[in-house]
Amino acid sequence: MSRVVAIANQKGGVGKTTTSINLGASLASQGKKTLIVDIDPQGNTTSGLGINKADVKQCIYDVLINELPVADVIYPTSVGHLDLVPATIELAGAEIELVQTLSREHRLKRSLQSVRDQYDYILIDCPPSLGVLTINSLTAADAVLIPIQCEFYALEGLGQLLNTVRIVQKHLNKRLEIEGVLLTMYDGRTNLSIQVMDEVKKYFQQKVYHTVIPRNVRLSEAPSHGKPILTYDARSRGAECYVELAKEVIQHGQ
Ligand code: ADP
Ligand code: MG
Repeated sequence: MSRVVAIANQKGGVGKTTTSINLGASLASQGKKTLIVDIDPQGNTTSGLGINKADVKQCIYDVLINELPVADVIYPTSVGHLDLVPATIELAGAEIELVQTLSREHRLKRSLQSVRDQYDYILIDCPPSLGVLTINSLTAADAVLIPIQCEFYALEGLGQLLNTVRIVQKHLNKRLEIEGVLLTMYDGRTNLSIQVMDEVKKYFQQKVYHTVIPRNVRLSEAPSHGKPILTYDARSRGAECYVELAKEVIQHGQ
């Protein structure tokens, strides 16, 4: 049975997509069969893994709204052991359409049930909001991974996110746990990065991953080549760190 991890933070630009793609590819490089589910209408994970959205006829939208079996929208990627359920802009309508749907919060959980025994890990790349798509992800997940960008205002909005996690735990998914908090875009030369790290560690304590993702230009270049960092530049600092993170995540599961 796979471990399902939602990668969530309602702030945009904190490294959710970068982490989904590169943690996914790193887990796969460790021999773990991994599925990434793109549930953000922007579909950045989809294009970042080299899948042309114009060629995608059916996506996660059809799974959530039209009850298409998820197995019908699983795409292989260029990385061994790594598959993707893509998202296209069509998904933007789902947020509204789901409001009128029966048991709307459980749609993703139910659809993933049929493929859970085929993967070691299922990662869900959430959109930058706490709407029904993120709620679906938290309901389907065993654990949530929270990326935090080492920037000013890093902790702002986290209260809201943690409150949402508590509401989901209470009403929709009792088993949901915090998998870990990941510091991203860390720059050890700036006081700000160091300050944010201290604050996040004070707040989340042992929930913070030992691995910290540095600001690394290779990480930001890789998506435009449709490749995870391990394929684009395996010797970069960014690649090393995501492999370290994968090892930590694997250890947590054991
Ligand atoms: P989110 O999915 O939370 O909106 P992204 O993963 O798309 O965030 O990251 C936002 C931007 O920052 C992207 O352009 C991405 O390439 C860049 N980025 C993310 N992580 C890093 C990093 N560690 N170093 C440099 N750039 C990064
Ligand atoms: Mg994103």
